[in-house]
Amino acid sequence: MIDYKKLAKKYHNEIVENLTKWININSVYDESTIKENAPFGKGVSEALNYIATLAKEKGFNVDTCDGYCVEISYGKGDLISIFAHADVVPVSGEWLYPPFSGEVHDGKMYGRGTSDDKGPSLAAFYALCLLKDNNLINNYQVKLIIGGNEESGSKCLEHYFHVLKKPYPKYGFTPDGEFPLIYGEKGIANYKVEQNIKFENVVKIEGGVVANSVIDKAYAIIKAKPDIKEFVSLHFKFMECPYNLIPLEDNMYKLEVIGKAAHGSLPHEGKNAALILMNCLAIYYNDHSLNTVFKYYEDTNGKALGTFYETELLHQTTYNVGLLKYENEKLEYVVNFRYPENVKVDEVINKLNALNIGKVSLLSESEPLLIDPNSKMVQTLLKVYQEETNDYKTKIMTIGGGTYAKESKNTLAFGSHFPNRDDRIHNCNETITIEDLLSSISIYAHAIDELGKL
Ligand SMILES: [Zn+2]
Repeated sequence: MIDYKKLAKKYHNEIVENLTKWININSVYDESTIKENAPFGKGVSEALNYIATLAKEKGFNVDTCDGYCVEISYGKGDLISIFAHADVVPVSGEWLYPPFSGEVHDGKMYGRGTSDDKGPSLAAFYALCLLKDNNLINNYQVKLIIGGNEESGSKCLEHYFHVLKKPYPKYGFTPDGEFPLIYGEKGIANYKVEQNIKFENVVKIEGGVVANSVIDKAYAIIKAKPDIKEFVSLHFKFMECPYNLIPLEDNMYKLEVIGKAAHGSLPHEGKNAALILMNCLAIYYNDHSLNTVFKYYEDTNGKALGTFYETELLHQTTYNVGLLKYENEKLEYVVNFRYPENVKVDEVINKLNALNIGKVSLLSESEPLLIDPNSKMVQTLLKVYQEETNDYKTKIMTIGGGTYAKESKNTLAFGSHFPNRDDRIHNCNETITIEDLLSSISIYAHAIDELGKL
């Protein structure tokens, strides 16, 4: 038996030192500094160069893929690929320590990218170092691909697979999800609904910033009588929504409603401000046409739409109205739609068009991911996780969201978020514990070794 934990400990100082330096590079997508071989801007490019240099120093083969990603490879034979990313989301909120400092306090490193995904990327990198330093890479080829655009569209892997025509792996995983592993992800589509319609007394309605988030704030410009004050006060008290009614000139008002944000894959956990606002106006004006969107999308599983589907593995369809606008007698909204493996998106679009509530058109589509939970790959990775952590309780899972794994084939998310860890991904005070970082090295080294033997 190889003691991966013991072997991983040797890299303790190195990984902490290099992760700090890597966190010091602000690698948020930056359109203003895009140039040749730096398609995502200067910061991302520097972060990719940093890992490329490190990998060369360690004796790996390195391909910098036109600046889209860094491919670190070693060995010959069946291909095992790991997909991680060096770009980060922008910072906001109040940070205890500067977000690009990588300061360590009480065994935790703080900083943007510590958990998502520079820490896990480096853990995978040192897993490769561990295997190579101990001559354990035999009869297989391992590649660690570090992308530069996961957070804003994954154009990195699109370039990698579709422009550079790099091969898909026999087995792949991404350390950009959760442990033990995610063997299924719902399909995700965005569709747009456009309807020419006139709402009496309503000049404008607007809400939402992105399709894959529940609208937490919406407003309307309306013409109303003074009784609107009492009406909205009672209505929003009942709905438990904060609101703001601002009188404008000529009996006009601006009515702003606060709902509750939630991820687009979990619309039932939010309160859609735009739908609640339209429902309120429909009742006030006694105008059914204003209530259509609310009526159809209040149930977030599509039952009212007649397009509800469910399977045992990937569960129920979800529909989230993420962007909505009404102006100049035109209503437009974008729905983030998530679906299990038995759904045909074209059929859903046809059914929605048949409802005659506007023209429905598909904007984007990414198919579901499903790897047989009883497959050798899933069972091997689960066994490795259990042996390395002694956690035999946490079950393998499916999710409504999409991970980096979808960009590849035969690939699933394997860590590196440990159960019950508050790592605050995409939030202020993002952290990773040094202990988890080291555990991830041993889990990944062990996993690659076992996959190499399959
Ligand atoms: Zn990530």
